[in-house]
Amino acid sequence: MRFETKAIHAGLDIENPSKSIVPPISPSTIYEIDADGRKEEDLHYTRLGNPNRNQFEHLIAVLEEGSTAAAFSSGIAAASAILQALEPGDHIIVPEDVYAGNRKMINNIMAGWGLESSFINMTSIDTIESHLQKNTKLIWMETPSNPLMRITDIQAVTELAKSKNLLTVADNTWPTPVNQLPLTLGVDLVLHSTSKYFGGHSDILGGAVVAREESEFFDRIRLIQRMGGAVPSPYDCWLLARSTRTLAYRMKGHNEHAAKVADFLIHHKKVSDVFYPGNPALPGYEIVKKQMKGFGGMISFLIAGSDSESIKVVGRSKIIKRATSLGGVESTWEHRQSSEGEGSITPKNLIRISVGLEHPDDIIEDLDLALS
Ligand SMILES: *Cc1c(COP(=O)(O)O)cnc(C)c1O
Repeated sequence: MRFETKAIHAGLDIENPSKSIVPPISPSTIYEIDADGRKEEDLHYTRLGNPNRNQFEHLIAVLEEGSTAAAFSSGIAAASAILQALEPGDHIIVPEDVYAGNRKMINNIMAGWGLESSFINMTSIDTIESHLQKNTKLIWMETPSNPLMRITDIQAVTELAKSKNLLTVADNTWPTPVNQLPLTLGVDLVLHSTSKYFGGHSDILGGAVVAREESEFFDRIRLIQRMGGAVPSPYDCWLLARSTRTLAYRMKGHNEHAAKVADFLIHHKKVSDVFYPGNPALPGYEIVKKQMKGFGGMISFLIAGSDSESIKVVGRSKIIKRATSLGGVESTWEHRQSSEGEGSITPKNLIRISVGLEHPDDIIEDLDLALS
């Protein structure tokens, strides 16, 4: 079955005895125990599992071509479950321009629990190898990176990791499985902030970890999900599954519109650099062509001018909303460094845009106005 078909059908029949085409929302926190006692797989208490969560977890696992998934109440909660599954004293390799929230969590929370980390430039496999330590356990990837669109060669990293017996994680929030399938390239775990393209309408907060295969490490993530308790509500899981049914077609629109917007920006005299996976001038473009099927809806660009000029440009849009985050049907943009804060390596004149599903000519006219 193809992606579009799986996105529409996967998970519908899980714990759905009425055979509703749209599974019902199950708000109950508790489930009746059989008279002859409770079996391991029975539903019991909603924090441990419920029909809507099981349906969504199955759906996202199928779409990422993994074996199993755990859904969380945010992307950050999913990321922290991966880190908490490590042991104190373990060391991890992280991109220096990793999602800013993950950097803050690693430095300000996990370090206190004994996690060691090296934040490095992940565009060269030699650089990654040179930062491995005796206690290194895991290599974290985010490709394309946020917001500089640095590209990591996923397959080269998984080959290195296998030779050293290390775990690999890929934050696939930006590309989504429509554009990139890290598990098929040998990555162990895929991370998602489902608040972005999976949710797709800027109205759900959520996260997920998808595993290529069952493992003791994933069992620990599952335990942290259930006992840490950062779980999404049945309603959020239901809404997320509903959004995911249209993910393939929304991504086709985001891919198409961002390509047009990137082309406009590349040729604009007020723009000095355009960071976009489909820009042939991007270092790593050859790797992009090897590992991505589409370029996604995100673009970062530098204004030929000061940071205050960049803030003014963002202030002039009429259709593109000034907001952080990404992946909604509406276009949003921001002066990125103002959002990232302490530790950010983002240039001061960088604007990041999440290209939405409005008519692309309207988005481009709005950009033209803002840049004039
Ligand atoms: C938003 C985001 C996260 C964090 O997810 P939340 O749902 O906001 O907690 C992690 N990684 C990337 C790449 C993101 O864009």
